[in-house]
Amino acid sequence: MKYRRMPRSKDKLSALGFGCMRFPTDADGKIDEAQSFAMLHEAFQAGVNYFDTAWGYHNGESEPFLGRFLQQIDRKQVYVATKLPCWLVKTREDMDEYLTNQLDRLQTDYIDYYLLHALNKKSWKQMLDLGVLDFLTQAKANGKIRHIGFSFHDDYATFSRIIRAFDWDFTQFMLNYLDTTYQAGLRGLKLAASRKVGIISMEPLRGGKLAHSLPKDVEDVWQKSGSSLSPLERALTWVWNIPECTVLLSGMSDLDQVLQNLRMANNARANTLSQKELLVYSKVRKAYLSRIPYLCSECRYCMLCPFGVNIPGVLGFYSEALMFGEGHRNHKEYLAFIKEDSRADRCTKCGACAPKCPHHIDIPHWMGNIADFYND
Ligand code: SF4
Ligand code: SF4
Repeated sequence: MKYRRMPRSKDKLSALGFGCMRFPTDADGKIDEAQSFAMLHEAFQAGVNYFDTAWGYHNGESEPFLGRFLQQIDRKQVYVATKLPCWLVKTREDMDEYLTNQLDRLQTDYIDYYLLHALNKKSWKQMLDLGVLDFLTQAKANGKIRHIGFSFHDDYATFSRIIRAFDWDFTQFMLNYLDTTYQAGLRGLKLAASRKVGIISMEPLRGGKLAHSLPKDVEDVWQKSGSSLSPLERALTWVWNIPECTVLLSGMSDLDQVLQNLRMANNARANTLSQKELLVYSKVRKAYLSRIPYLCSECRYCMLCPFGVNIPGVLGFYSEALMFGEGHRNHKEYLAFIKEDSRADRCTKCGACAPKCPHHIDIPHWMGNIADFYND
């Protein structure tokens, strides 16, 4: 196992972190404890020392389960990360209450890495107004948390505002070779690093999509480059190549995946990819992006649609379908995440949105196509 130091700390964290949100489950959807304990022990024995959970993972089961694992090992040998569920917090007192419950669930006196979960423009403002910085500062001062961070899902401007607003120890965001300019992206990475904020990368495989079912034109670029690496190796190597990235989080869901990731983590070195190899990644990125006929930056200037269409959300799901070609799964996710009354088929082609789009996307035209696509 390779280790990297947190910039503002003496902690040396394993380059591979264990994301505790995708454990195997039984027929009732509960964590399969026998299999999951075996996975955690395998990782721990191989030197993984960073375990990341959250209040809501596995419907609230992940923290208590990780707590039981901590009873089976020497707690001091590992670093535990968990997160404040910002969307459930209504008062300043709630913050203390969640932290107390999390310490109970994890059966520990302290949390090494504590994050505000999934910050975005709106939740950051709400948390600030409720006094979250006072909460974090006090919790650190009285030893309940050791490092303060936040995980993030919004645009770069919001990331920049949040990162400059406090002396964060670390941050966690999506980082993979496809999304270099999406959300915080590489700009966010450089900004965080310039402030000596540690970086935990999540979604290195884009929810598994970079490891499976590569479209033919994308695979062709890899083949032409002569790369002998598997899709999984290509994706993880790209993240580990970044020296500013402290930990790569992987949400492993069976023992084989644990073993595979551990093998790769033994070679998790920074600055090993040559310019030529990085150029291939950039060609692959272009091949993916060229499959989308519009460039929606999710700026939301087109909103609100008078007929309730979730324009950026709908465009986003369709982009995913075009990039990865996973028809069935994408279709299910579209139906699950885009509410019925905000889907493409609600578009009346009134035309109010298109002039507001800085990328000149012909939104009514695409809503028609997308409605046909998902109604098929
Ligand atoms: S054209 Fe369609 S998506 Fe755009 S504002 Fe009108 S109804 Fe909404
Ligand atoms: S204005 Fe254009 S780029 Fe911005 S979210 Fe709407 S469709 Fe996307």
